[in-house]
Amino acid sequence: MFRFRDRETAGRIVEGLRKMGLNLFLMHVCGTHQDTLVRYGLDRLLEPCGIKIRQGPGCPVCVTTQREIEEALALARRGKLVATFGDMVGVPGESGSLAGLRGEGADVRVVYSIRDAVGLAERTGKEVVFLAIGFETTAPSTAITLLRDPPPNFSVLCCHRYIPPAIRALLDMGETRVQGLIEPGHVSTVIGTRPYEEIAERYRIPQVVAGFEPLDLLMGVYLLAKMVQRGEVGVRNEYTRSVRPEGNVRALKAMGEVFEPVDVDWRGFPVIPGSGMALREEFEEHDARKRYEDELRELEGKEFRAHPSCRCDRVLRGLLDPPDCPLFGRVCTPRSPVGPCMVSSEGSCAIEYKYGRREPSGQPA
Ligand code: SF4
Repeated sequence: MFRFRDRETAGRIVEGLRKMGLNLFLMHVCGTHQDTLVRYGLDRLLEPCGIKIRQGPGCPVCVTTQREIEEALALARRGKLVATFGDMVGVPGESGSLAGLRGEGADVRVVYSIRDAVGLAERTGKEVVFLAIGFETTAPSTAITLLRDPPPNFSVLCCHRYIPPAIRALLDMGETRVQGLIEPGHVSTVIGTRPYEEIAERYRIPQVVAGFEPLDLLMGVYLLAKMVQRGEVGVRNEYTRSVRPEGNVRALKAMGEVFEPVDVDWRGFPVIPGSGMALREEFEEHDARKRYEDELRELEGKEFRAHPSCRCDRVLRGLLDPPDCPLFGRVCTPRSPVGPCMVSSEGSCAIEYKYGRREPSGQPA
């Protein structure tokens, strides 16, 4: 493990990058990459080399929409036991947060896995709704749980999303002149490297799948920089110790059996075709949206908005550094978050705040 944090090797890579005389804008879509970048000060090491890296829509909590949060709130208000991961509980929707509802007596539980939520259904006998968020990393557990015939009082409010359609949407929008993509290690462990080949072909963009240790990321950046310099388009895999071209075939099979792609919006994005995972008809008795259609009807046709000054939408599209949000560190802090990017441990704002860098970058917001 520690050879992936070796300072001397890191110094040699950075020196190699500095000598290339670059002016590069790269993007990644992974909260753990962002944590590594900022925690180890890699972003500061890379800036003098002419390399700027921003996080795109890679934080699952952050891209979950206000409507999805309102759905969970509506079910909790109607007496369901809502179980989800810790970060989700604190995200403010328009009418409050799950944490706030819990303070008012609603049954909201933090779980570490979907298995814990199934255990709650078995032990309490209550109607348990698991608010399932995340990308291809967490979706296989949801799929496998549903394939194992969970108890009848257990259902899933499915907010899982596929990463490749979001990358395509980001590139189609063309707001950022991204010259290379660092693809997420965890997601790629499941989906493999092949989905990126089509992206490389269509958008003529180089991509590197990278792991999460500092040297993984630096090597990923180095490989990308070389590809950009040579005008090379394609996909390289730095994270060979975990990622295979075909991915995790069993996990993909389980996902294919349980989910079907649907068009959904993401926070900060319009509707992205085929980017959502909906439960197939065979699982509708465990589909909270179908099972509690009456309870959720009150939300039909309503528009839900985030705080008007919150810039999470721009942060998630890689257009803004968190300190350039006017609320960052003043009004919006982890103790009183205004947007999800300050709540989630994978959110850019929370990561920036945690490691103590709170000054505006001076770049236009
Ligand atoms: S600092 Fe707060 S308000 Fe601003 S973008 Fe981040 S989460 Fe949203």
